[in-house]
Amino acid sequence: MPKHIACLTFDFDAMSGLVSRGLTTPTPVSRGEFGAVAVPRILNLLEKHTIPSTFFIPGVVLETYPDVSRSVHHAGHEIGNHGWTHVPPANLTPEEEETALLRSSEAIAAITGRNPTGYRSASFDLSPVTAQLLSKHGFAYESSMMGHDHSPYRLRLGDVVDPSGQVTFGQECDVIEMPVSWNLDDFPHFEFLRMPNSIMPGLAPADAVLENWINDFRYMCETEEWGVLTFTFHPYVIGRGHRMIFLQRLIEAISDMGGVFMNMNDAVLEFRGK
Ligand SMILES: [Zn+2]
Repeated sequence: MPKHIACLTFDFDAMSGLVSRGLTTPTPVSRGEFGAVAVPRILNLLEKHTIPSTFFIPGVVLETYPDVSRSVHHAGHEIGNHGWTHVPPANLTPEEEETALLRSSEAIAAITGRNPTGYRSASFDLSPVTAQLLSKHGFAYESSMMGHDHSPYRLRLGDVVDPSGQVTFGQECDVIEMPVSWNLDDFPHFEFLRMPNSIMPGLAPADAVLENWINDFRYMCETEEWGVLTFTFHPYVIGRGHRMIFLQRLIEAISDMGGVFMNMNDAVLEFRGK
């Protein structure tokens, strides 16, 4: 039976991603605050279409917004581990990374009653030891890598990347990778971000992005019997009016193509059972 799955994932970073970039003055903090305004809008839309989804929430955001975080769980959505702060693991020591990972799982379990099965790194940037830590601590899946578009695969341990360019792949482990792409992430398309040495223009017309995303899903339907496409949203980005309409139209288009919406944990179980 052909099956084409869409995983809608929401990284509820609030201000943590801006703070980790050194943007700590009142306006960027308020920009992140808008995420807490947007989450109820997103939950309403998902409920209207009976769509299960996955929210990745950093530990600091669980502490800043306990009620909003609990509302995600109470609405029936999965909560995955997104580290403690929003500093990418590639910028942490292995000890700091492991402490953050476990502390965050504990905070999620305090809401949901069980440890999260999935992990997504801040800024899609794993450290050389992340895969090892996830395997050691029994995570079922990871979702920050870009080695495929619509097929999960097994994460590798111990890849060696020589500065000369030679890459030696390590052994596959039991953790499933649920691949992502910057293309299928709302942030680079829509957010205007001015940093001391760079400007990310963002502010793309939603219709143009929508057409690309629908075509990525259509291509999967036309070329694969089974596949899963993962979309990444940030409440403070997607929660603006015209982008909420974009999200609604994406949901309708995927439904029209016969797509099935699943949270990531269920999509992983389905992949393992194939
Ligand atoms: Zn994030």
